[in-house]
Amino acid sequence: MANIGSHANWPPIEGIISDLDGVVYRGNAAIVDAVQAFERWQAAGLPFCFVTNNSTHTPEDVVRKLKSFGLVIAPKDVVTSAITAAELIRAKHPELTRVFVIGAPSLVKAMVDVGLDVTDRKREAVVMGLDRQITHEKLRIAVEAILNGAAFIGTNPDLLLPTAGGFEPGAGATITAVAAATQVKPLIVGKPEPHMIETALARLETARDSTLLIGDQIQTDIQAGKQASLLTVLVSTGVPPREDPSLVPPDFIVSSLTEIQSTPALVGHPRQRSA
Ligand SMILES: [Mg+2]
Repeated sequence: MANIGSHANWPPIEGIISDLDGVVYRGNAAIVDAVQAFERWQAAGLPFCFVTNNSTHTPEDVVRKLKSFGLVIAPKDVVTSAITAAELIRAKHPELTRVFVIGAPSLVKAMVDVGLDVTDRKREAVVMGLDRQITHEKLRIAVEAILNGAAFIGTNPDLLLPTAGGFEPGAGATITAVAAATQVKPLIVGKPEPHMIETALARLETARDSTLLIGDQIQTDIQAGKQASLLTVLVSTGVPPREDPSLVPPDFIVSSLTEIQSTPALVGHPRQRSA
């Protein structure tokens, strides 16, 4: 077990589960001290796994991107909402074989990789992620399938995504449209739901109460981590997080991942350890 902290309130950490965008990089730019922190943890033998709501990249895409920043990891070190959606369908609906997908090629690949038949005929499930080629016809097929009893799975609930020039609608916006049309509530895979965290924990094989969840969003990352009973660290860009009494606060707030190696500040109330 590697102990990454020296602060009195900082427990021994066996493993790390971390968000990517806003933590390790911002768009296409690396967050240099975060990359260095992961390199040091890797050298120290501390296992980590990345979790991302983004269903439009495969784990191999993420591996390539991180390699360009100097961090060398394996595809198994990345859990995407697409991969977890495929695993959830297999686990919750083992009898199901035919899925209709609205999403990126990476989402289709995730379904095919677990043996599902991606088709617009006799659909038994509808899986929706971010699809920049979405059409009314795709929405019609999804709505009809769900009204006929197909299972309804959404990769992530993000409504609005920042782009280089502004914003674009996220997967959550179109998932919400289909949910409104059908009046059927989808199973949402991504954060703040804990499914991806559970997948990452199973891969790390670390104890829940000595695994750290690192994220930059209280509404998604920190809530997912708390739902899975992990210790949580919010990496903040210096802007104070908005107070929202309905959200569970993080256990720690740092301005840089390098602080995790020294003396992170304990925030809020005394940390509640899970049994
Ligand atoms: Mg993020």
